[in-house]
Amino acid sequence: MSGTMMHKQLTISSLIAHAARYHAGTEVVSVETTGGLARSNWGKVEENARKLASALGRLGVDAGARCATIAWNNVRHLEIYFGVSGSGRVTHTINPRLFPEQLIYVINHAQDQVLFLDKTFLLVAAKLGEHLKTVKHVVLMGPRDEEAAGLVEGLLFYDELLETGDAQYQWPELDENTPASLCYTSGTTGNPKGVQYTHRSTVLHTIAGNQPDGLALSGKDTVLPVVPMFHVAAWGVPYITAATGSKLVLPGPGLDGESLVKLIDGEKVTIALGVPTIWMGLLAALAATGSKAKTLTRTVVGGSALPPSMIPTFRDEYGVELIHAWGMTETSPLGTLNQLLQKHGDLSDAEKADIRLGQGRAPWGVELRLVDADGAPLPEDGETQGDLQIRGHWIVESYFGAEGSALTDDGWFDTGDVATIDADGYMVIRDRSKDIIKSGGEWISTVELENIAIAHPGIANAAAIAARHEKWDERPILIAVRAEAADPSPDEILAFYDGKVASWQVPDAVIFVDDLPLGATGKVLKNKLREQFGETLIGKD
Ligand code: AMP
Repeated sequence: MSGTMMHKQLTISSLIAHAARYHAGTEVVSVETTGGLARSNWGKVEENARKLASALGRLGVDAGARCATIAWNNVRHLEIYFGVSGSGRVTHTINPRLFPEQLIYVINHAQDQVLFLDKTFLLVAAKLGEHLKTVKHVVLMGPRDEEAAGLVEGLLFYDELLETGDAQYQWPELDENTPASLCYTSGTTGNPKGVQYTHRSTVLHTIAGNQPDGLALSGKDTVLPVVPMFHVAAWGVPYITAATGSKLVLPGPGLDGESLVKLIDGEKVTIALGVPTIWMGLLAALAATGSKAKTLTRTVVGGSALPPSMIPTFRDEYGVELIHAWGMTETSPLGTLNQLLQKHGDLSDAEKADIRLGQGRAPWGVELRLVDADGAPLPEDGETQGDLQIRGHWIVESYFGAEGSALTDDGWFDTGDVATIDADGYMVIRDRSKDIIKSGGEWISTVELENIAIAHPGIANAAAIAARHEKWDERPILIAVRAEAADPSPDEILAFYDGKVASWQVPDAVIFVDDLPLGATGKVLKNKLREQFGETLIGKD
């Protein structure tokens, strides 16, 4: 044998083993579910993950078994990520905001054998108990707690379970195609669908998503993932920070602006990641407390459309660069990230912000394309809208426990998003394909209508939806929440669209509501709004 290279499997245990070997003393700080800060480090996280792996073996939990978590971002959750997956079992993260029937469905569908719970969710689980057919062990993520023990028969306690584990346990050599984790989509219709990530897909996502033109986390960073570990692995941050040895700050249940300001200032956070509503809360709390978030240099935002004012506010008031990203459960989730190119260096701040408002470009490892209704590729000219499709190393191929492929005949995954892509590969999400408004054969982007409405000072939040129309098939209407102490009229809001969109795109009506209905990942449930308001225009004019 000559001229060969070593061949090592791409495994999740290799990430945590690296963190323990080269960044053992680097802190992992965690807000406890019961309050207060717990201070650990990568060395202890890895040791506890190995003890957990060994303790699960002693409990009789087999290789390949699904172990579910319903938990906040905290250090025990992090240990479970590595202990369960690193030992060849599958970490099934569950979104606690699912409806009870969906929770029962996903636990039974995944055939979870173990259920790890934060105390917050113990009562929910206790109520589901009799419906859960496969769960053999329920583990409370904390020390022994007599009150909790009275609620769930046979309840185990994480800290005690660890004590039964062997600190000498060694990570097994797994094949990189072994399943590592499982996350269900939080679809608004039908049952959730499971996406099962492998060790290989996770490691490639870790490396490729964290290039300098991606998330760009490093060993110099203190990273605050506000994005939940219960949905698509907090955008991969637990794995990425293990690889980079960043200091990690896990916010627990305190996701309000004020708690985040305290953590950012107290722990000297340099980069934080979350959905737009989290940053709206943070910006309000920064203004209220007078904090300048001095250590913070970048925030990553994704999950839903980015309000245009957010880039200049972060930049001008706090000197923080905003990195926009797009992805979904089926894409691990990083599909695009928005960073500028060398040729953009001389642009003004406003021009740069304009480019960065879009969802960005594909990192190495994934490819995007636009297609029409017949699946024929469309031009990437920044103008032509089409169905966005993706393929690559960390994209779903088939759903867990479902028959057949999830892909098109030629091997692409259809995202359900409608987008444009320009000649440089910058992608902009225009809408979800089921939300876009088709008025007289022309498409109207609800995202664009919402962005304009939200820019009006009298509006706190807004959703544009298609209402059925006798002549045009569908017409846009706006469902809006007034800002505190503001009282704008519908006509005032409609006048605000003048000159911002073509006149035929202006909504036909504005309806004020107290709140917009939100789904499990904080996205507006437009199907609910369509059910409620979709017939508003019928019988008028
Ligand atoms: P989920 O699978 O729950 O993570 O949801 C994925 C969907 O969220 C995508 O298909 C998009 O419609 C939406 N989404 C994610 N990131 C963004 C973003 N940056 N801008 C607009 N929509 C987004």
